[in-house]
Amino acid sequence: MSDQTTIPYLPPQASVEPIYIRYLDELKKAGFSGDIETSFGARLSLATDNSVYQQLPQAAVFPRSTADVQLVGKVASRAEFDAVRFGPRGGGTGTNGQSLTPGLVVDLSRHMNQVIEVNPEQSWVTVQGGLVKDKLNDALRPHGFFFAPDLSTSNRATVGGMINTDASGQGSLVYGKTSDHLLAVKAVLADGSLLETHAMSLAEARQKAAGEGSEAQVYRQVLASCEQQRELIDQTFPPLNRFLTGYDLKHAIDWEQELVDVGRLIAGSEGSLAFVCEAKFNITPLPKIRTLVNVKYSDFEAALRNAPAMVEANATSVETVDSKVLNLARQDVVWHSVSDLIEDVPGHDMQGLNMVEYADQDEQAHQQKVAALTAKLDDMIAKQEAGVIGYQLTCDLASINRIYGMRKKAVGLLGKAKGSRKPIAFAEDTCVPPENLADFIMEFRALLDSHDLQYGMFGHVDAGVLHVRPAMDMCDPEQEVLLRQISDQVVALTAKYRGLMWGEHGKGYRSEYGPEFFGEQLFSELRKIKGAFDPLNRMNPGKIATPFDSDEQLVSVDAKKRGGYDRQIPVNVRDSFTQSVDCNGNGLCFNYDVTSPMCPSYKVTADRRHSPKGRAGLMREWLRQVTELGADPTTLEQQASSLTAQAKATFAKWKRSFFEPASDDFNHEVMDAMKGCLACKACTTACPINVDVPTFRARFMNLYYQRYQRPMRDYVIATSEWYTPLMAKAPRLANAVVGNSLTSWLSEKTIGMVDLPLLSVPTLKQRLHHNAALAFELDEIKSLSAEVRKELVLIVQDPFTTYYDAQVVEALVQFISAMGKQPVLLPFKPNGKPQHIKGFLSAFAKTAADAAAFLNELHALDLPMIGLDPALVMTYRDEYKHALGDARGEFNVMLLQEWLLPQLSALPAQAPSNKSYTLFAHCTEKSYLPTTHGDWQKIFSHFGGEVKNQPVGCCGMAGTYGHEAPNQQNSKELYAMSWAEPMAQTPQHQVLSTGYSCRSQVKRMEGFKPKHPVEALLELVQV
Ligand SMILES: Cc1cc2nc3c(=O)[nH]c(=O)nc-3n(C[C@H](O)[C@H](O)[C@H](O)COP(=O)(O)OP(=O)(O)OC[C@H]3O[C@@H](n4cnc5c(N)ncnc54)[C@H](O)[C@@H]3O)c2cc1C
Ligand code: SF4
Ligand code: SF4
Repeated sequence: MSDQTTIPYLPPQASVEPIYIRYLDELKKAGFSGDIETSFGARLSLATDNSVYQQLPQAAVFPRSTADVQLVGKVASRAEFDAVRFGPRGGGTGTNGQSLTPGLVVDLSRHMNQVIEVNPEQSWVTVQGGLVKDKLNDALRPHGFFFAPDLSTSNRATVGGMINTDASGQGSLVYGKTSDHLLAVKAVLADGSLLETHAMSLAEARQKAAGEGSEAQVYRQVLASCEQQRELIDQTFPPLNRFLTGYDLKHAIDWEQELVDVGRLIAGSEGSLAFVCEAKFNITPLPKIRTLVNVKYSDFEAALRNAPAMVEANATSVETVDSKVLNLARQDVVWHSVSDLIEDVPGHDMQGLNMVEYADQDEQAHQQKVAALTAKLDDMIAKQEAGVIGYQLTCDLASINRIYGMRKKAVGLLGKAKGSRKPIAFAEDTCVPPENLADFIMEFRALLDSHDLQYGMFGHVDAGVLHVRPAMDMCDPEQEVLLRQISDQVVALTAKYRGLMWGEHGKGYRSEYGPEFFGEQLFSELRKIKGAFDPLNRMNPGKIATPFDSDEQLVSVDAKKRGGYDRQIPVNVRDSFTQSVDCNGNGLCFNYDVTSPMCPSYKVTADRRHSPKGRAGLMREWLRQVTELGADPTTLEQQASSLTAQAKATFAKWKRSFFEPASDDFNHEVMDAMKGCLACKACTTACPINVDVPTFRARFMNLYYQRYQRPMRDYVIATSEWYTPLMAKAPRLANAVVGNSLTSWLSEKTIGMVDLPLLSVPTLKQRLHHNAALAFELDEIKSLSAEVRKELVLIVQDPFTTYYDAQVVEALVQFISAMGKQPVLLPFKPNGKPQHIKGFLSAFAKTAADAAAFLNELHALDLPMIGLDPALVMTYRDEYKHALGDARGEFNVMLLQEWLLPQLSALPAQAPSNKSYTLFAHCTEKSYLPTTHGDWQKIFSHFGGEVKNQPVGCCGMAGTYGHEAPNQQNSKELYAMSWAEPMAQTPQHQVLSTGYSCRSQVKRMEGFKPKHPVEALLELVQV
């Protein structure tokens, strides 16, 4: 490593090929109305999916309409652009690199994501290709319908992606695959021409085939291939519920009904035939009644072998999990949500679980089916047959969802494996006839065991689909070789059991196995189909098939992998930055749901760079580039705290800002993405891998500003905990200065801060002048007898509530007194959160050490300590741990509900009143304490009140984010996204909000300040 004192300048890496630059210029001139991105960062954010592969595209376009997509093809049809290639993209959640391309990404998810028409009378819906599946179901639910094919990634995968991978999942025996519901497609071919498909008579299809142009060419080839190879097709295509991706020649013509549907070929074509711009689906009535039977087994094999019996008992779906997945769930907080629904069986060790669901319209028929199954299970238990040790029924929807939520979470937990070996997707969706599944799995397990690999298994046993992700280290070149070896072995093994390796998630880079699977003759037909749709091999080249008569190659399992880049980062740096390196790209952070905390900056920008995955990807690449140039970020971090290094850096920065012209520096691209983060911490808990953007963002900023000048605003924010107490000594004067229009104008124009809040008048000190809070004297507290001391409750002040919302602290003092305890207001100590947010890490470490020393001294007295603001309280738990390690000590600052709940039964209960409130909880609090809503409900009910939970996402303020001028628009849009509407529907006096930021955002947007729950509790107890 070099002796550099700051991070180096990072020159542009892979520049965009000239042909793409010319093409994009022409596209713009032709009137393309969508976005065009060519920056390295934007390209990098689309270079990965959930697979092990990494492929940098040339650029990305985000069309706004079908006409835009047509322009993409039409401009490329000019001879000079023959070499331009396309990769259609939706949610980018593929597990085998399906959407990765070396050409131009055409991403429909950003703008083409609307429901066009719902027709409940005729049970169909039309949608745009970039619509997320759960959003579609949100639109259908009020009509009593849903889009039946299910998939685990339903909150971020798009219908375009679903069609192109022919997605399906739980319940596929009954609910089918995406292609089973596809009525019509409006697609655009590579030459920009429209192709509109629907099921039509053979005569109509022949008429189309007799015409001219691209559409006619497609129909001619489809008719020729299906008619001439009918017998071979029937022999070759496996009789499985799951079809493999490829071109579904078997279903393109329904010979019985003499109907032709070219849409069946587009389904499962992995973007290699056409862009799906719009689709028409049939929709399914929501089941009126559901029951989940959780069948417990002594071992996983027993669960597998018993699954066909469950299917025979007419179940809608049968899902299974192995002991590894079950045990992960048991060790996680998620188990609390289901422990009463999946209880242990006394005297037995539960090592396998089948979740057997019945979902029906007819209640009587439903009950009969459930009764038949339970009778069968009772019999098995009595006879100690089939390893069944017990079962439990769950009938209400909320509990059913909790169990499925546990299953999904546990599967995500597999990804959190410690060490360098991480579960990876490459053979994770094998499918064999269900009756062969148990034998197949036993052999598959033996195969993985022979390579000494760790894994967990779960799957849709009713359809014979098994999910398994062996833990491997892709930074180790030998493991990469092993991946190829196991791939080949699994292909052979699935063939032995009359199944296939790609039973659910598509082929992608596994396309090389296509010829072997289909056989030469049939694969030639697939190539002819490809040639008819896309003669120049522009559409996702190398995936599924290449045009007949071309010498283009299929992509291969050996394609360039992410590990090939990651292994360039030295191990010590990788280990130090696991918060970013470990992102596996599953895309959970793209959650579309505006009421979920994850991830506000992505939601408001629809730009993948501004998601946790985008930031983690940029950070990984940054680490790679920085270390390649000889700098070690971990060493630089240590140096950054020395005064000499800081002095040198200041001088160099100053020199640089005068003498170095603004440069095309990758450091700035990373910084742009980091600046957009609200540091709300939703990713830290909601990401299954716990990718922690606020932590690596602060570390990046710390190093970035060793090289570049900081904006003045950062200093103003970072020092706010020091000057605010001084301002509060003369609050009226301070408010007169801060609140006047000249200061507002100046603050916006100079430091870029807007809507600065006003200090509380009267101040907290004035409010507590005659109050019951004990003045803090450490020696006096120490000298109190244990009897007296146990009545004390310490209040830890934070700068925001104390100085800007003093009435909340006053309410807390009064409430604690009302509970018969003695409140003690601790002297204000800076918490350091504003320093951390801006990446002043050395200063933060000092602040944290100081505060921790103080709080640990109090902790030794065994007194409860309460803080009011969730963001600051969580800083003590999380950022302090990172900064101080073991030196953080054991002190525990609790939120009010954490203190109240355990002792609730000992506090005097109150009769129910008519007081009702609505809680808009803080995102950080919801993320770290998932039970928060229920906790507040129990507390309010104890004191005779009622509190309703209002699901909301981020309010858009997030500390100082919303006060920074460059974030204004996003901050307000975020508020409009999920807060504005429920706020408008809730009477002001009923609104409760736990976060200081949220209360001040409501004040800014609505003109009133909501109460903190403690103010409402005080109202209740003072009645
Ligand atoms: C954790 C996890 C769990 C999963 N579980 C399931 C599951 O239960 N069932 C299942 O079926 N899959 C599952 N998958 C795989 C994946 O989510 C699906 O394949 C999904 O359908 C992909 O949708 P997407 O919008 O993300 O598409 P992308 O990944 O963006 O693209 C997938 C393919 O479709 C093409 N494509 C996308 N949009 C268009 C368009 N508009 N026009 C033309 N081509 C297009 C792309 O070129 C690519 O070939 C899972 C993935 C992960 C990471
Ligand atoms: S940040 Fe987390 S949720 Fe997002 S893609 Fe990475 S691992 Fe998945
Ligand atoms: S901290 Fe919040 S805004 Fe930042 S990446 Fe994580 S979820 Fe997104």
